[in-house]
Amino acid sequence: MNKNDLLEKLKNNISRETWNNWLSDCSVELVNEKEVVLGLSNIFVKDKVEKNFGSVIKDTLVDILERNVEVTFSTKTIDNSKKKEEYTGPLIKNRPLKLSDFNSEYTFKSFIVGESNSMAFHSAMEASKSPGKYNPLFIYGDVGLGKTHLQHAIANRILEHSPDLKVKYLTAEDFMNDMMDSIRATNMEAFRERYRKTVDILLIDDVQFLIGKNSVQTELFHTFNSLFNMGKQVVICSDRTPEELATFNPRLVSRFEMGLVVNIQEPDEGTRYLIAKKMADLVSVQITDDVAHYLAENINRNLRRLRGAIMNLMLHSKVTGEPVNLTSAKKIVDSLIRMNMNKTKYRTKEAFETIKLNTLINAVLQKFNLKKEELYSNSRKKEIANARQILAYLMKTKLNIQLKDIAEALKRNHSTINHAIKKIEHSLMIGNKVTKTSIDDILKIVENEKMNIDIV
Ligand code: ADP
Ligand code: MG
Repeated sequence: MNKNDLLEKLKNNISRETWNNWLSDCSVELVNEKEVVLGLSNIFVKDKVEKNFGSVIKDTLVDILERNVEVTFSTKTIDNSKKKEEYTGPLIKNRPLKLSDFNSEYTFKSFIVGESNSMAFHSAMEASKSPGKYNPLFIYGDVGLGKTHLQHAIANRILEHSPDLKVKYLTAEDFMNDMMDSIRATNMEAFRERYRKTVDILLIDDVQFLIGKNSVQTELFHTFNSLFNMGKQVVICSDRTPEELATFNPRLVSRFEMGLVVNIQEPDEGTRYLIAKKMADLVSVQITDDVAHYLAENINRNLRRLRGAIMNLMLHSKVTGEPVNLTSAKKIVDSLIRMNMNKTKYRTKEAFETIKLNTLINAVLQKFNLKKEELYSNSRKKEIANARQILAYLMKTKLNIQLKDIAEALKRNHSTINHAIKKIEHSLMIGNKVTKTSIDDILKIVENEKMNIDIV
């Protein structure tokens, strides 16, 4: 029996699902009296096939050949000349491998490693080199410390080195929206297929967004299990530890905890200096050492602000046609800092939370064209009540404020707030366009505000 016939027979005896998922690129590299060697596209697939289907494949081959053979697996050596000869049929395109867009600037190369992020960096590297080895990988840390950068770096590296693996990156919010759309279109089958079957590496960002969204957590739990059982890598980022996702479905939290949990912290000044230089490099603006030191010294905590400052310096230098020097850098950075302090006065976490809440409230007022007093009044006017309900919903889902605190802030009792949130959730669930648009508009206003706050 020649190699092609053997492969065809093997295919007919293996379930279609397994074949499509794992063996579609399989080839018979060698077949003789005692031995069959099957070639697989890469080490990752080879390991999984060996482990999960090795004995089934062997039994099947023994049946087909009607003799006992040793079955081994190898990663394929691509012999182009031979390929050309054997190849007669039309060119069948592989499925598109790129399932998401990745920021090509966020790579391992452009990531500066220091003590604060070294564990996260090396774990992410490992996840891209040996997907499935540390599963899941859970990276947590404050805003602006490089979590998203690392997830994209994993994706970019895999695209470069193992382009046959399918990588999907998305935020937990995207996941939820996709799920909602699929429920509305009664097409959950396709949704599940999309996440559980056609993905080799799933990168989910900002998972804390799912706090309080139980049905989405359950769906993620099943998605996770399905990928995990097939040995496919899952990488999760969050601004909290798994433990701090206290209201999460405990089954999901325990899944998060069973892999590798790593923290990413604020970089020290030395690392910030190097990051500043790297960021300037990326946008082709020359900054001298003293400017980089000045930035590193004065901008800490959130690296997005460092990036914001560098973008400002770049603009300034473009507009004036002058290179960035320490004097101009100081002027720009100082005014950004001052502007920011006046605007936000956030020195402590509590103050920052207050600002976020005020930004949200203002956005709601703006959207519904209401005055603050009206929002807090006892008015039962439909429009005011609706604005209040949406605000309560966003306070819970976007700012993770506890029900009792929302009740206190809005001067309502606990059960009214509970009811308000449920009502909006329901409204979204059944696809109410007016509610959805109102919320989207409010979030857009918040987003614009945030850009202003975040610049330094
Ligand atoms: P997070 O997802 O944790 O909020 P991001 O990944 O969005 O943070 O990072 C914020 C910005 O800082 C991005 O522009 C990112 O490229 C940059 N950044 C963060 N950490 C580093 C690092 N170690 N080296 C270089 N750039 C970094
Ligand atoms: Mg992020």
